[in-house]
Amino acid sequence: MILPKASRLTPEQLAEVTVIVTEFGCQIQPIVGAVRTIYAIVGDERDELMINRIEGLSYIDRIDRIQSPFKLMDRRSDLANGSLTVGGVTLGRELFIIAGQCTIDPKNPNYFYETAQAVKEAGAHMLRGGVWKPRTNPYTFQGDVKSLDILMEGSRRTGLPVDTEVMEEAHIQLALDAGVTSLQVGARNALNYSLLRAIGRAIADRRDVVVLLKRSMHMGTLNEFISAAEYIAAFGNPNVILCPRGTAPGLDGYRNHPDESITPLLKEKTWAAVVVDPSHSVGKAIYVPAAALAAVAYGADGLCLEAHVSPSHGIGDDPKQALTPDVLASTIKRAKQLWVLRM
Ligand code: PEP
Ligand code: MN
Repeated sequence: MILPKASRLTPEQLAEVTVIVTEFGCQIQPIVGAVRTIYAIVGDERDELMINRIEGLSYIDRIDRIQSPFKLMDRRSDLANGSLTVGGVTLGRELFIIAGQCTIDPKNPNYFYETAQAVKEAGAHMLRGGVWKPRTNPYTFQGDVKSLDILMEGSRRTGLPVDTEVMEEAHIQLALDAGVTSLQVGARNALNYSLLRAIGRAIADRRDVVVLLKRSMHMGTLNEFISAAEYIAAFGNPNVILCPRGTAPGLDGYRNHPDESITPLLKEKTWAAVVVDPSHSVGKAIYVPAAALAAVAYGADGLCLEAHVSPSHGIGDDPKQALTPDVLASTIKRAKQLWVLRM
């Protein structure tokens, strides 16, 4: 990672550095931050001669050589000094709340609009709504692109930015063109490296877009989880939020094995924000408030909560997992109080 003395390299300086790394079979990937730009060396950056030649340039401050499988997402990376603001919240400074339906029902858009309003009134900062759905049963509702319009209408009515899951490359541009702020990568695709790369490529220059990266379904290592984020960040946009959502096999009675407790461990390894999803973790609305508070107690920067104005009329996970508006509001209120106590 090359750190210039000034906030960024001039085009001439970048060209000079590029010529040097190219000689050693490497490439330069600028990572544009709000305040400064840093330059990742893509390839084998261990060659002493290459390092010395770059460090010898008058406009270079230093090269950070982090020996880590995820050198951009690593806690020790210069990116740790940056900040991420979404929906008016700078992560880490205020508890960030995403809430909304698991699945948008294209036949009943009014439920979504009412849910969106309830989500806003409950104090959430981002509205979620599933357009395309990964379903275990191939004969159940798989989502509908028409729901993208409903999602964006919910956003317009509330002024909230939106999060939705993209499952295939074709979904990425559709979501971006519609104005989606947060591309969710679900647990089933969390290790789909070609999808992660495609997202990284598509949002490289879109610093207004973030990725909510779920932890994969299996009980994978923390390094595997953070490395998945690195696949996206390596294209230039490091706005990746890590989302533990429980792992399989489930804990008897819960849908998954709750894993909010990995939050402090993730934070030792990466600077990335952690937004926990207790809804998929425990899988039943009655258990969600306690799991949400546990996540905040463990140091989460935010929560992703499924909610519906009338869960029994919902589809997808909503009948079993969605919080009603009153429970959503009280959960958010108590989570914010706990956040303040934690400070
Ligand atoms: C969801 O957010 O509705 C979802 C399908 O989540 P996960 O990928 O965590 O199962
Ligand atoms: Mn769901």
